[in-house]
Amino acid sequence: MPSFNANEKKMSRQTVIKIGVNALYETGSDLICKVCITNGGSCCNGCRHLANGIGCTQRNTSCTAWLCGFLKYLLYATGLLKEWNDFWRQVPGQDFREDFTPEVFFVKKSLHIEGIRKLGQALAIDLEELAAAHIAIGFIITLREKIDKNIDRLNQCKNDPKKQIKIERNIKVLSSPFLRFQKELRDYHLNNPSIEKGESK
Ligand code: SF4
Ligand code: SF4
Repeated sequence: MPSFNANEKKMSRQTVIKIGVNALYETGSDLICKVCITNGGSCCNGCRHLANGIGCTQRNTSCTAWLCGFLKYLLYATGLLKEWNDFWRQVPGQDFREDFTPEVFFVKKSLHIEGIRKLGQALAIDLEELAAAHIAIGFIITLREKIDKNIDRLNQCKNDPKKQIKIERNIKVLSSPFLRFQKELRDYHLNNPSIEKGESK
């Protein structure tokens, strides 16, 4: 017989997807994706669930939870990456471009991502300008992959402060061309002094 914890809340698969989609909207992901897709970086490329002129026909928990380098960086810089990851860790059955998530399951933690759409907006403009300024095809996509790799590595060396400092420095250098974003980020941290960036904090 399954055991139930008083802190756990019943949640449907559809509700979790809705919570994720709303949170992504709060990050301004639609604006960032627009720039990324225009520059050939769509993460849905080649997926059998992608319909021309319609978009995704099979919204699932896996793709909703998954973050590319740009979105991961946005949540890392605003100190919300742990919030995101902790929420999605509770959702069972995530796979590649599909899920086996039960229709109803239990979660302990809700998801609070708000007040950062302006930052996503700023990042989208920065990316647009960077893509226009660098004629090499795939410039921003390469940048996305490098940032992604560094943030993942950062989370893998939580017990190695020296390595962490080095990787944090890499992320700082890679994100330094995001001028509008960095300005918004400074304001965000001034208004939210208790928030630190990163996943592990
Ligand atoms: S890779 Fe990231 S920015 Fe590009 S389309 Fe996918 S989610 Fe959007
Ligand atoms: S299933 Fe995932 S990868 Fe495929 S179209 Fe939908 S969101 Fe994109």
